[in-house]
Amino acid sequence: MKTIHPYQTIGIIGGGQLARMMCIAAKAMGYYTAVLDPTPNCPAAQVSDREITAAYDDLAAIKRLAEITDVVTYEFENIDVNALEWLSDNAYLPQGSETLRISRHRYLEKTAISKMGIPVAEFLLIKDAGDFDKQVADKRVTFPSIIKTTTLGYDGKGQIVLRGEEDLIRARALAETSECIIEKFVDFEREVSVIVARSTTGEVKTFPVAENIHINNILHLSIVPARISDKVAKEAVEVAKTIASGLGAVGVMGVEMFATARGIVVNEIAPRPHNSGHFSIDACITSQFEQHVRAVCGLPLGATDLHTPVVMVNILGNHMNKEQLHDLSRFSPLLPYGKIHLYGKAAAVDGRKMGHFNVLDDVENALERIKKTGIW
Ligand code: ADP
Ligand code: MG
Repeated sequence: MKTIHPYQTIGIIGGGQLARMMCIAAKAMGYYTAVLDPTPNCPAAQVSDREITAAYDDLAAIKRLAEITDVVTYEFENIDVNALEWLSDNAYLPQGSETLRISRHRYLEKTAISKMGIPVAEFLLIKDAGDFDKQVADKRVTFPSIIKTTTLGYDGKGQIVLRGEEDLIRARALAETSECIIEKFVDFEREVSVIVARSTTGEVKTFPVAENIHINNILHLSIVPARISDKVAKEAVEVAKTIASGLGAVGVMGVEMFATARGIVVNEIAPRPHNSGHFSIDACITSQFEQHVRAVCGLPLGATDLHTPVVMVNILGNHMNKEQLHDLSRFSPLLPYGKIHLYGKAAAVDGRKMGHFNVLDDVENALERIKKTGIW
């Protein structure tokens, strides 16, 4: 492990909003950046020194990225397997490949976390449709539960809730297309998350717990401080630290959890900055993006104290004036106390994450302001 200093160059695989906000943090600290993404002028390319326009599995382009940079990181977990192998052997990828291998596969992920003594929803591997039939015949599939593809799911894609026998046909169809897991439905009081950073030096720091509200499985609001007891908040923070240390992860990681009457149950992890950590940009001493840069570059981690309560609200394509993306009139109740972050995407599509507001006000006031816009 080495220290990467300002004036050196950080390479990022993926050029969406997470990479964009990483670049902005890195640039503020005096680093140069290069991003690799198939879309020309993608959100990160607009703020990056260098842009490589190529497919994620274009090995020549991955090699070029490594050549022109001093450290390589990524904004998403589904990095092409060959690219990852090449990078692990030939480039400086301080995050390694092991955390990715585990977190991109729901069965490996839940197995690893439960081995650390941390509660997860009860789960069952479904290898294929034949296996599904066998598990149903053996009465191991119970209700309510959720079937999820083991890989490539996000924002609720590749999942079906099983409320009763009537949902088995659709579930079987999913198992026909992909390896899956079936999880018992967790009866949670709140959904929360903790962003945890672990640096190449082994230093670990967490951000304040966020309470997350999803609509149609897409994150809609993060409320900080989370409306949970201090005891549960402490448990959530400890769980996140245990996972980051247990995996030997490097960089920032989002740990999604359920707060239940019996304590914290972990849902899933994402080994990268996470949507539920965007509040930190305006509400914490150090943002999750700066923390990620510090962690992969081997700098001391920054303080994560919250200096104001905050509600982060996502702006989706369906919240925008699709013909006139610059028209923010709908958001006028948020503008005085809300810090706006737009990602520079060329077109608004329903459900696409276009930006977010961090509303810096007491939680109840912030929620009232957000309600006035009609987006919640
Ligand atoms: P994704 O990768 O799409 O974010 P998640 O596993 O986080 O997938 O599931 C999306 C949402 O579905 C969660 O945020 C939660 O609201 C709900 N959910 C997922 N698994 C469970 C479960 N076992 N019990 C209750 N709710 C769940
Ligand atoms: Mg999730």
